[in-house]
Amino acid sequence: MAEIIPFDQRDGALWYNGHLVPWGSAKTHVLTHGLHYGSCVFEGERIYNGRIYKLKEHTQRLFESARILGMKIPFSHDEIDQACIDAAASQGIVDGYLRPVVFRGSEQMAVSAQNSHIHVAVAAWQWPTMFDPAEKLKGIRLTIADWKRPAPDTAPTAAKAAGLYMICTLSKHAAEAQGYADAMMYDYRGYVAEATGANIFFVKDGQLHTPLPDCFLNGITRQSVIELAKARQIPVNVRHIEPKELIHFTECFLTGSAAEVTPVSEIGPYRFKPGQISETLMNDYAADVRAEKSSVVLAKAS
Ligand code: PMP
Repeated sequence: MAEIIPFDQRDGALWYNGHLVPWGSAKTHVLTHGLHYGSCVFEGERIYNGRIYKLKEHTQRLFESARILGMKIPFSHDEIDQACIDAAASQGIVDGYLRPVVFRGSEQMAVSAQNSHIHVAVAAWQWPTMFDPAEKLKGIRLTIADWKRPAPDTAPTAAKAAGLYMICTLSKHAAEAQGYADAMMYDYRGYVAEATGANIFFVKDGQLHTPLPDCFLNGITRQSVIELAKARQIPVNVRHIEPKELIHFTECFLTGSAAEVTPVSEIGPYRFKPGQISETLMNDYAADVRAEKSSVVLAKAS
């Protein structure tokens, strides 16, 4: 296995509280509210061919996630956009990943932390795209998670909040331990929800079906894929999906900034055959992420 360089030991620079700083110097004390109490939100964005895909949409969601957690980001939307551009440009990224993160600092170490400073960092790293349609069309295998997505009055489910990922990591680890790539999660009512880091779509009789995102992230990729499907006149049904319906779907795929459009071949006892609709949307999405209209070009770091 290739040696993986730990994320705190990489070279170059990242953006931390207003400035590009040497990567290794971007440190946070162990007594930090975001670490102990989960007061932390983040984003995951992709850079394709030197352009950040849907930068403004991700920045908008970062601000919305922070607002939901009661944190006021001490920068403007434009400043965060520029931070993303600078973090990526300073690393010379052509194809890569961007990780903005917002968290409460160390001023108070208790449940109440009204006076804590809000910290913001943006880091970028290389992530070469290996788009091999034939390989992807084999589909990945999912199991069904034991954990359920919580109700919107149980957790801040509309935020991309660090704390919501506890059950995702647990579910993903359990899936991997059984040889699966990922897990599909039901929600607190028993409806189909999503995977541990991606939304889910199904196909039946030439139409798409995807769960209503009323207790999990309405992914930016999910929204892009719905638009791409509509442009192809593929009907999209956004609704609650019951487990008993799974047997009737013929195709299934996941969507996410990291997952892109990833066909699925099985979910527990259910089998799917990646077909024409999955392939079409996978290719349309691959074209969209490289289209100039949807992305922001990286200028030289300011
Ligand atoms: N759900 C979860 C739990 C996720 O982590 C992600 C990835 N951010 C998504 C859905 C898909 O969101 P997006 O398409 O905006 O990346």
